[in-house]
Amino acid sequence: MNAGIRAGANRASAAVDALGPVAGTYLLILALRSPTTIDVGGLGPIDFGSPFYLYAGSAFGPGGLRARVGRHLRIAGRSHWHVDYLRQAAEPRRVWYSTVDVRLECAWADAASALPGVSPVPRFGASDCRCRSHLFAAARLPGIAEFRRRLEASWTASIRSAFGPSATVRLFELRL
Ligand SMILES: [Zn+2]
Repeated sequence: MNAGIRAGANRASAAVDALGPVAGTYLLILALRSPTTIDVGGLGPIDFGSPFYLYAGSAFGPGGLRARVGRHLRIAGRSHWHVDYLRQAAEPRRVWYSTVDVRLECAWADAASALPGVSPVPRFGASDCRCRSHLFAAARLPGIAEFRRRLEASWTASIRSAFGPSATVRLFELRL
């Protein structure tokens, strides 16, 4: 391992440690190294040709965000989730997350789908819900401010009733 790769790995692990074991929802932004076709578990072969991919997930298991995001940042040996397959060919660039104690990944997927110039990868990461997808191809790296606007626009009645009418979205960003 050369010094540059080691420095990058150390920076990523320090960022993940800072997340703590809290539960939350996140958007992982991956940069594809080069166009490729990947056999994604039960979905079969999928062509990946966009420079960026946005994946909406949540972390409510043991270890919370630190464990789940840490898994995404390491190159997993064995693919379990759909996103693990894509991760083999792409590098994490951003993680946006909130620590609201409610699963919001479907709302986050909806907000990501509303960003300009993105398109869904059908059924990817959405085996257990009614969303069209939890993964979106993007021609450019989106900014967190535009994502926040989409998220607030899709802030649903049920979320408002859980957190109050003045609930705001507190978003955090890891730059990798
Ligand atoms: Zn969903």
